[in-house]
Formats: sequence, C-alpha cells, structure tokens
Amino acid sequence: MSTQDYYIQQVQSLNERRAAETGRQPLALVKTFGCQMNAHDSEKIETILSQMGYGKTDAADSADLAIYNTCCVRENAENHLYGNLGLLTHIKKERRDMRIILCGCMTQQGAALEKLLRSYRHVDVILGTYNLRRLPELLYNSLIAGRQIVEIRQSPEGPEQAEEFESKTGCRHFAFKASVNIMYGCGNNCSYCIVPYVRGRERSRSPENILTELRLLAADGVKEVMLLGQNVNSYDAGAQIRFADLLERVCETPGTEQIERIRFMTSHPKDLSGALIAVMRRQPKIARHLHLPLQSGSTRVLTRMNRKYTQEDYLRLIDRIREAMPDITLTTDIIVGFPGETEEDFDATLDVVRRARFAGAFTFLYSKRPGTPAADMDGQVPPAEAGDRFQRLLAVLNPMILAENEKRIGTILRVLPEEINAQGSRPGENCLTGRADNNTIVHFRADKNHLGSFTPVKITGCKTYYLLGEAVD
Ligand code: SF4
Repeated sequence: MSTQDYYIQQVQSLNERRAAETGRQPLALVKTFGCQMNAHDSEKIETILSQMGYGKTDAADSADLAIYNTCCVRENAENHLYGNLGLLTHIKKERRDMRIILCGCMTQQGAALEKLLRSYRHVDVILGTYNLRRLPELLYNSLIAGRQIVEIRQSPEGPEQAEEFESKTGCRHFAFKASVNIMYGCGNNCSYCIVPYVRGRERSRSPENILTELRLLAADGVKEVMLLGQNVNSYDAGAQIRFADLLERVCETPGTEQIERIRFMTSHPKDLSGALIAVMRRQPKIARHLHLPLQSGSTRVLTRMNRKYTQEDYLRLIDRIREAMPDITLTTDIIVGFPGETEEDFDATLDVVRRARFAGAFTFLYSKRPGTPAADMDGQVPPAEAGDRFQRLLAVLNPMILAENEKRIGTILRVLPEEINAQGSRPGENCLTGRADNNTIVHFRADKNHLGSFTPVKITGCKTYYLLGEAVD
C-alpha cells in the first residue's frame, strides 16, 4: 500500500466517525478554474475524495471540505478565486471544522502565493501543481493538527509519483468520455505565458503508461478520449517515439477497440509535423479537428511573443493540413492588445483570420502576468484601444464562423450526445447536446437513450457557435 493510500484510509476512518456523530456523510466541494488539464486533475481529486468517504456538494456553505483548483493564466481567473475565498471567510467563522484547500497553478506563482498567505489566513492547506499526489496526507495532517499547512515544491516529483496520481481514474464528468494526460509542463517560453513557471519544463509520460490507462478506460465504457498536453506536438518519449507514433499506437492498441474517437489538445504550429498530418489522414478514429493557436497574425508581434513561427509559416502550415485533409476543421486562440501591437499588426491578425477560415476561436485580451517577459515590455496597449480591437476582431470572426457552420446544413454528422439541453427540450421531446467529429457543438432532437452513444444527426440549422439538427434513426 502506498503512503497516500494509507492516508486515504485514515481520512476515511475520520469521516466514518464523523458521519456516526453527525448522522450525515461529510461533503466536499471541488471548484475548478482554468483549462482542461486542471479539470482533469480535479477529476482525480474527486476520485480521491470519494475513496475518503466524502459526498459531493456544489455549495460552499454545505461543504465540510472545499478544494479550489486554481488558475493564473489570466488576471480574472485569480480574481474569481479571491472572490470565492472572500465569501468563505464568513462561512468558516461559523464552521471552524470546515477545511479549505488550494491547489493548481496560482499557488505555484510567487506573487499570488504571497497574497494568499497574507490575506487569506482561513485557508487550511496550500499545495502546488507538483505534489497533488500528497493531498490525502496533507488533508489528514490538517484535520488532526488544525494548523495551516503549506507545501509548494519547486520542481516536479519523479514519473513514478506522477503515475501514482494518474492512476486515480474513478470519477469522470462523463462516463463515456475521458481525458488522458500524455505530458506535463511546457518546453516553450512564450513571453506572455505563465505556464512554464507553474507547471515546469516539459516531461512526457511513457507510451506504456498511457496505453495501460487507455485500456482501463476502454474496459470502463469510454468511447471518446482527449489526449492532453500544453504542446502535444512536442511529445517525446525517447527512442524516437514522437506524438505521431503515440497517436498511431493509441489508435491500434488491442483492448482499446471500444474507444471510437480520439481528440488531442493543444498543438503548437512550430512543432506540427508532416508525420502527424499523415497519421490524422490515415486513422479514422482521430477527430478531423485541429486546435492550432495563432495568437497573432503579425510576424513582428509573434517574434515579441517568442512563438517561433511567422505569419507565412502559419498560413503555409494550414494549407498543407487542408491539402491532406480538405474536411478538417480548424479552431484557434488569438490574443489582442499584446504589448507593442500596432494597428498595422492588428490588421495582420485580421488578414490571417480572413484567410484561415477558422470554425471557432478562443479570443483573449492580453493579460499582464507578473514574472513573464511580456509584463515588462514597452508599448503596453491602453485597455480602451485593446477593447476596441477585440470587438473588431469578433466582427470579422463571427460571420466567418457562422459561414463555416452554414456549410454543414443538410449534411449528416456523427455526434456524441453528452447531456440533455433543458432549454431546447419541450414536454415529450428532448433536445440533446454533444460534439460532432469536427468538434462543433450540436443541439439536436432525439430520445435521451442516445446519451453517450455516437448518433448520426441531420443538420437542419445553425447559429454562430452551434449547429441544430435531428437524430437520423
Ligand atoms: S506553448 Fe507557449 S502559450 Fe502554450 S503553454 Fe507553452 S509557453 Fe504557454
């Protein structure tokens, strides 16, 4: 038995005693901020909590334990957490036995950690991104000792410890789909990005561990898998095993036949190889969707961002991808208002957007992150100017996204319905929501027994950010 499994049992015994005393099961709230990797870590945290005997709650005022999995990629994510912690001050005054735990990227970031320690003393345990595995032990110590515990490692633990945490695969948001980490951290240094400082340098999981997890997930009824990494294209397990090789194995490994669709996120244009394009073209399981962050269309700004590609490189790459897979759907990330961005630079971004015909985009206003090179750069763009550009970007993007969706009307797409859409449902007729192979959201009329099963859907209409349809029985 591992040390942490021992502490899971210890906390479980405490919870059993508590339940006997209070007549109710102790409840835990897990609140996640930020990206899919954080959401995936939270699923593992929920697995550990259920092993400890905690029930689930979404309300902080009924929680015996509240865990906040934090994000610091943009300022507003941090402000959201401070707001939540403010609310907890009053609850904690009433309920001294409640425990509050913080983990995730914010705790790994110097300035934010200082503020948390100084201004939020009612937080009981703070751990970082490198030692989530030690949650059971730190919680147990907090429950017993009742003093604040702060444990922030400055570097990741070894692969064995990382795998111990990865093995916690019980709780998933959806029974039929799962995320799988293939790597951690990032080897790039985009000048605006805090990730390498809080998630560390790039390290790839072994293909054997990834395939073992996939076989377990397949046996557990999973039909769709999202392979996760900050930059999956630079996956490198040594022995010449790169991302394209891993994808091929993921598609062909015996024992994963049950898994019908493979997705991956996030790609980096400078590392997207011809081998990857060839595997995507060859393997029908791989969703015909690529999320390819552009960030800016200006080569001058891309250089200041340290993205290591030019406007021409990006456009040439998407031409190559489209030549190999004409039906591919491309989505992207764009930052507006990066320090030094001029009107001319912004026009270059609009130019790429018009030529790339994205079917979706995450658009962001530049957010200054303490400790990143861009934070100290000259030419910080005034918020009003950046806000105006942001609106002009949407004015160009949205009609293009709508036009891409309109092309789907009359076609039949394969959709994996995830949930009932209450808004679109009417008495006796359900509206289900899911994603098509090209990652577009589809709301469609169908019986709820389609939930979790790939369903052919005839597309009958669309809006900017989703398609409408009906199941083709
Ligand atoms: S590739 Fe760049 S933006 Fe993405 S996580 Fe790494 S440093 Fe950040």
